[in-house]
Amino acid sequence: MNRLGQEFSIISRTGKLIAFLVWLGLTLTLIVLFTAVTKPGDPPFPIQVLMTVIVPVPLSIYALVIAYIHADARRRAMRHVLWTLLAIFIPNAIGILLYFIFREPLLLACPGCGSAARRTFAFCPACGAALQPACPVCRHPVEHGWANCAYCGGRLGG
Ligand SMILES: [Zn+2]
Ligand SMILES: [Zn+2]
Repeated sequence: MNRLGQEFSIISRTGKLIAFLVWLGLTLTLIVLFTAVTKPGDPPFPIQVLMTVIVPVPLSIYALVIAYIHADARRRAMRHVLWTLLAIFIPNAIGILLYFIFREPLLLACPGCGSAARRTFAFCPACGAALQPACPVCRHPVEHGWANCAYCGGRLGG
């Protein structure tokens, strides 16, 4: 499966169903609009059919992206309900944009017990296994190449 397919697969069934219903609802609305109220300015029939199928697609994709944010924020241990609401209610897709700017990195699987842990953690919250090098004094995660701990000033060996 390619990258996009993998990302798509995290969207819940409910999310996909909602996106489909958005498309179906708009399509039906357009069909009713074109058939019930025939005005002299209406586009020719083939164009009407094309519009009926294509016009609802962007909104349906919008719904899919929001469903993706819901699933993605949850898997990253972010406030997924809040981010979903922001994505829906901030106009012009700005909520969506903000999400992709501020989303946190994916969680790591602990090598000891397999439970999910944030990338910034030095130790697994479940089993206590070391996830990355930590300061021996204050136990904060430290980066390779540091001579001293950036948090407590303690000397780091090597
Ligand atoms: Zn663990
Ligand atoms: Zn320290």
